Amino acid sequence: NPQSSKRLLQTTCPYCGVGCGVDVVRQGAAGPQLSDLQGSREHPANFGRLCIKGTHLLETLGQDSRLLFPMVNGQRSDWQTAIQTVADKMRSILETDGPEAIAIYGSGQLLTEDYYVANKLMKGFIGSANIDTNSRLCMSSAVVAHKRAFGEDIVPCDYEDLEHTDLLVLVGSNAAWTHPVLFQRIERAKLQNPDMKVVVVDPRQTDSCTLADLHLPLAPGTDAVLYCGLLNYLSQHDGLDNAYIEQSVSGLEEAMHIASEWDLARVADVCKLPQSIVETFFRWFTQLPRVISFFSMGINQSTTGVDKGNAIINCHLASGKIAKTGSGPFSITGQPNAMGGREVGGLSTMLAAHMDIDNTEHQRIVRDFWQAPNLATKNGLKAVDTFQAAADGKIKCLWIMATNPVASMPNRELIEAALSRCEMVIVSDTAAQTDTLKFADVVFPATGWSEKNGTVTNSERRISRQRGLVPPSSEAKHDWQIISEVACALGFDEAFSYQHPVEIFREHCALTGTENGGSRALDLSPLQDLTEQQYDAMRPQQWPFSEVHRAGADRLFADGTFYTPTGKARMIAVTPALPTQATSADYPYVLNTGRVRDQWHTMTRTGNTARLLKHMDRPWLSVNSADAKTLGVENGDLLALNAACATDTTVILPVTIDDKQRKGDMFAPFHWSATWGSHCKVGALLNGANDPLSGQPELKHGAVKAKKA
Ligand code: SF4
Repeated sequence: NPQSSKRLLQTTCPYCGVGCGVDVVRQGAAGPQLSDLQGSREHPANFGRLCIKGTHLLETLGQDSRLLFPMVNGQRSDWQTAIQTVADKMRSILETDGPEAIAIYGSGQLLTEDYYVANKLMKGFIGSANIDTNSRLCMSSAVVAHKRAFGEDIVPCDYEDLEHTDLLVLVGSNAAWTHPVLFQRIERAKLQNPDMKVVVVDPRQTDSCTLADLHLPLAPGTDAVLYCGLLNYLSQHDGLDNAYIEQSVSGLEEAMHIASEWDLARVADVCKLPQSIVETFFRWFTQLPRVISFFSMGINQSTTGVDKGNAIINCHLASGKIAKTGSGPFSITGQPNAMGGREVGGLSTMLAAHMDIDNTEHQRIVRDFWQAPNLATKNGLKAVDTFQAAADGKIKCLWIMATNPVASMPNRELIEAALSRCEMVIVSDTAAQTDTLKFADVVFPATGWSEKNGTVTNSERRISRQRGLVPPSSEAKHDWQIISEVACALGFDEAFSYQHPVEIFREHCALTGTENGGSRALDLSPLQDLTEQQYDAMRPQQWPFSEVHRAGADRLFADGTFYTPTGKARMIAVTPALPTQATSADYPYVLNTGRVRDQWHTMTRTGNTARLLKHMDRPWLSVNSADAKTLGVENGDLLALNAACATDTTVILPVTIDDKQRKGDMFAPFHWSATWGSHCKVGALLNGANDPLSGQPELKHGAVKAKKA
């Protein structure tokens, strides 16, 4: 009886960049039910473990909060009308304003196949590179840091390294809340090896500090100072690996020229730390043979995020603590598929398959491969610039996919103005209620987790299948289908005739193998002939694939050569700079924003689950007791926050007095937006300042004034 047949299926968690494998039982053929969800024991990311968000995934499903049918101008519509409406408007804008007046703003929630098709349509056929995503807010600074140092956007570590290190430095990461399964892995590693040291570098004393042998509560934004000081210390305490530098590293002299100005006393002074704990950290880094620097949003989401990343990488290159088991700089992505998006070129500053948009040979390869009539040959607009251009009337049509920028981007007033000014805003989403949907002219209902079918890549470059376990809700379609239908309506039928995600995956893999004879790391060409059955059965696998990667490299860069023209990794001369949204007499408090343990982004899924709201069911503002006294507030009192960039917006939050917060600093989670309470628009207090190299906005350092509400 097919109605009672049970099948154990495997898929991947849709939340963070750990990319945990998930087993789930499906019962029944028509209207199948999912049950018995647990971590996949054999998935190398989690070996059976899940955090609380993953554990309660099934409770986030259901039709109540879903977008179920297309809408045009606020009215229920049908697919044909909605697709034709978008295609007609795009064609008209292309004729009158050209391709640069159209943009896509996507998401690290998109599957690689969705990303590939969106990127192909925008860069190959519409003819503009104006496709950026919320991955810009996640790891774009790390991307640029990797390219500067290694010549390629590549993470040189694996999760296994966390278990084979002597010193694990969590810098700008509260992994206990944001990457819980990796944090559990670190906990077990420390249990098994009590000599392993854990250092947390973070202005806040977060839950990750429960594991720390040493916590450096440095002044916000001073990470590059700390790492310049570390480089200086390495050179003064016999910590340089001169043989390795000679063979594999360039740029030491220039980097040292600046770093040598940062002695211990000056570092301690600027970072506002006791010199003794800075010295302890430096000594451990210098003396312990294997070191991992696990870095995340506290580094990336900064006006100097790229330099901070390179300051960290510099110390690993100079000390030779890289490309060995248990050693290296390890950028951990926030989103489930920020890495997969990069692989297909899903940012406005890339082409496809890690090829460069301004490289004429790469342009030729991609143009020929796609048979692209109108290939973009210059960088498009990054996230913040996209919305600024829309607010200025330059972007006339903006298609937002799987993200809620009104709630998640900084400078909310600008985002709202931008969407109001666009001639057409298209939103593809799963949720029926978001702050962004209010601005949509055309709404496409997209499939969500458990319905979507494709691949994602996690923080250790491991590609896993996210499988379609149940049919799409109501009229929802897959993102790649929606994009392909718009492309066909624009007349690009031949290039977008996909019927199944395996066809897209094969095409993507084939494109990765077209450059320089398969000698680069991102060469997935062995997968370009997968059958649908093989794709359905695909096991998690990590690139580079050994069969195409250069011989003798058992791990990345183990042979001492990098992807730069000289083959040497580059140290970068980093001049530390402080955040640009600086405090002043009028705006004296630093506002830091981030995640809580049990919620995901703007809560369109996790907010539906009572169990996940148990941990924290409302937004709050962490305030040091000394500041609370000055402001005359106690626990639970309301504080009104204002910033110079948002004179019309007051954010009002209940106070939690918390001495794990430095005096002068405040912290608020960004999850709760206006959908959840009218005065929680935390993003409005951040001015959109971003890193000039990566475009990644500063989300860790606003400047606010506060008064009892
Ligand atoms: Fe999902 Fe991340 Fe939790 Fe793993 S750690 S279950 S990927 S949210």
